[in-house]
Order: sequence, then structure tokens, then C-alpha cells
Amino acid sequence: MATTRIECATEGCGGCMEVDGRNRRDADYRAKKLVERGWTCRACDNRAAVERAVVAGLPALEGSEKQVTWAATLRERILAILDVAVPEAVTYANGRSAYPDGGACGFRSSVLELALVVREIGEPAVRDALEAIRAETDARFWIDGRLEEPNEMISAVAKRRAVEERALSPEGKAEAAAAQDAMAEATLRSAEPVSETIAELAFREGRLTARYDERSEAFNATVKALGYLWDPAASAWVRRHNSLMMGTAVDRLAETAHELIAAGIVVALHDPEARAKAIDRSYEPEHRRWVSIVPNGTYEGKLRLTWGRDEDFYSAFRSLPGATYRDKLCLLPATARDEVLDFAEAHGFRITPGAKGRMDDVMAQREKGVIVDAKPRPKAEPVKAGARRSRPTSLSVPASVEVDGDLVDHD
Ligand SMILES: [Zn+2]
Repeated sequence: MATTRIECATEGCGGCMEVDGRNRRDADYRAKKLVERGWTCRACDNRAAVERAVVAGLPALEGSEKQVTWAATLRERILAILDVAVPEAVTYANGRSAYPDGGACGFRSSVLELALVVREIGEPAVRDALEAIRAETDARFWIDGRLEEPNEMISAVAKRRAVEERALSPEGKAEAAAAQDAMAEATLRSAEPVSETIAELAFREGRLTARYDERSEAFNATVKALGYLWDPAASAWVRRHNSLMMGTAVDRLAETAHELIAAGIVVALHDPEARAKAIDRSYEPEHRRWVSIVPNGTYEGKLRLTWGRDEDFYSAFRSLPGATYRDKLCLLPATARDEVLDFAEAHGFRITPGAKGRMDDVMAQREKGVIVDAKPRPKAEPVKAGARRSRPTSLSVPASVEVDGDLVDHD
């Protein structure tokens, strides 16, 4: 292993490099070959690239000195590829050549990809993008784009140009102004907003959605208390709307908006009716205490109690005959009809038509029943057990009880 130092071919530069070899003779030989081929240092190469750019009529680049020298060599390489690839791709896309020429396979596939872009957005847009790239003076553009394929660079620039064209056109300006006006009209502000971020509320396909592009405890706590659940797929808080127990979607939107504004959140609500109701609070507040019926599944036909997240009727519910807590559901047998009706009246619970029908059935059966004067058989002597549990294991008490749309009857 040996090294030989060589100097830059540019007169007076003084730049140098160590050439490695297996031994002295090998290192000297390699160094001699590079000197014969006119090796120049990086600084000289970069300066030469800048000089060639001036000759080629390319604009001066902007950025730090290091960025500008690097970008000059990158620009030279990228434009050399695009200046060959674009005309070939256009020819191929127009069907004037069966297979694009272009040496290496990698280059040929680049041309094919680019031809697809030509077909998609048209030749004028591709040529416009190429000229926009040639005129690009931001050094960062060349540095960031150095690994992009020709088709990727052309597509991205063409897309950006189209957006710019739109923004510059009278129609685009009118559209932007209209969107801004609509947003301003839809926006409801509290007297002292906690942030300028705007929450967007909407009702689509049976779901209420609340979106907020900021991490906010105030926002999350408010929508959670209203029964919204986080949906990672939608990146929004959503709540399935059930008109039987939740009232109208417009009222729910208005209530959500009103509660958020009260928490200091700025809200955009595009539905004019919901907006008006949110402002004067004329919506029907959601009734959250319900006796409903489980429509299907393991607990089909059972009565179910639900109440607001910030309320607690759990112990009152447990005192009802046959009360069980299963799969986060507070369940009661329909035979507990009388007690359930008393409970509902005492605590302001409403009864869904489905639950009412089930209770009526119980009543009808009771009236049809034959009354038998039955006598209980004598009780057996209690069994003596050594270590008998005095109390059953206590059940865990739910911290919150929510309405799950799937388990609620819709009749
Ligand atoms: Zn040099």
C-alpha cells in the first residue's frame, strides 16, 4: 500500500489529491495515468461548471456559495438528461417511433416513463415545465431534485405550474376569493379564542365529523364529552348519527359548534341552518338518557340503559331487578318492566319505541297468563361449608358509558 500525490491541472490552482496503489510502483502508475488525463480538483470543476452555465445562457443560481457551486454541476447533469429525454419522449408519445433510442436500459425506461407524462398532460405542458426547470435559479431546487427521475421532476414542475396558472387567472382569483368569503361566513368565533386554528364540522353519510389541525385538550375533551370517538383512518373525531335517540343531525352539529365555541375554539360550519342554531342556541339539546332495546346479537331483546358521559346512574341501575353489565352494556330483562318504567320516570329517561313495544309484549303476556295457586316445596337444610365466600366478586364499574350505534335499535 502506497500513495502518490497529484496536483490539479489548472495552472496556479495548487489543489491536490492522494492516489492509492498496491505498492509504490502501482501508486505512481495510477497517478501518472490521472495526470495524463488532465485531472482537475473539485473547486476547479465547479468553477468550470459555472463558466459553462454562463456560456449556455443559464441564469445565475441563488443560495449559499457551497450550494451554488454544487447546484451548478447538478443542473448541468440534469439538463443534459432532460434535453435528450424530453424530445425522445415526445416523439415516442406521438407514435412516431416504436422504441425510443437512448443507449442504456435505465435511460430508455426513463424515456418511456416520461412519454406517459407527455400523454397524460400533453406536449406543451411538458415543454413548458422543461423551460421552467431551465430558468430555475434556486440552488435548493437542483439539490433537492438531484435524485428525481426525469418524469418525476417534469410532473412535479408541471403540476406546480398549473396551480400557479390557476392562481394568476381571473377565474382562479375569483374562486379563491369566493372560497375565502364562504369560509369567513361559515366561521364562528368565541369572544376570546384560545387559538386561531379553525375546527371544521360536517355531517356526511350518517356520520358527524369534527376535525382540528392542532393538538388541543380543550377540543378533544369537548368532542369526547359529546360522544365523538377518534377515527384514525379519517383523522377526525366522528360520531354515528342515530336520529331515534340523537335528534336531527343539524341540531347535533349546532350543539357541537356551540360547545366548542364555549371552549374558546373557532369553528367553521358550512350548513347555514346549523350555523344559525349554533349562534342563537335554538337547537334542541340532545337527550342523553334512554331506555332502548338491543336489536340483535347475544343480548337481543334485552332493555338497555344509556346516559351522558358526565352523568352516573350506574348504582341506581344496578339496584334494578335483573340488572347486568355485559360488554360495556347496562342490560335489563324486559320482565323488569314496572321497575324500569318507575326508574325512567324518576330520572328523566326516555323510552325508544322499540323498548316500549317490548314492554307492551311483557304486559300482554302477563295478562294472558293463567294464575296458579302454587305452593313452594319445603326448603332443604343448608349445606355447611368451611371456607365459603361471604360475598361475590364485585364487578368493575364503568368509568363512562357511551352509545354505540350498532347496538341501538333503529325502529
Ligand atoms: Zn484546481
